[in-house]
Amino acid sequence: MSDCIFCKIVAGDIPAKKVFEDEDMIVFHDINPVAPVHLLAIPKKHIASLAEATPEDAPVIGKLLQVGGRMAIAQGCTDGFRTLVNTGRVGRQEVYHLHIHFVGGPDVLPPMLKR
Ligand code: 5GP
Ligand code: ZN
Repeated sequence: MSDCIFCKIVAGDIPAKKVFEDEDMIVFHDINPVAPVHLLAIPKKHIASLAEATPEDAPVIGKLLQVGGRMAIAQGCTDGFRTLVNTGRVGRQEVYHLHIHFVGGPDVLPPMLKR
């Protein structure tokens, strides 16, 4: 996907502060962090969102969660963190290349959603 910003990170065409990379996935720091630790875990394959993910994508999605969690801990989230996937219009997804947010830091996070 030539117009996808995260595919450009996969291709190395735009820089990212990577903390992990292998043949399937990358974990990097969010450019506009909402907390002291804010990582994004993405598959190298362009999957637009969780709504488009197929059964064949399930293994890499599991790997994003497992490796991303290890990286959050390695970045200092030793007492927990929050994992979030925004999907589509209702989920206020901004970048249409599947990504899992890992958010944390020294302090307890605010409640997930306001009532
Ligand atoms: P979404 O709302 O789609 O779940 O989140 C997209 C995230 O991608 C946002 O938190 C935004 O700060 C981050 N982001 C957008 N463009 C870039 C970029 O070029 N580099 C990095 N590292 N993060 C980006
Ligand atoms: Zn993409």
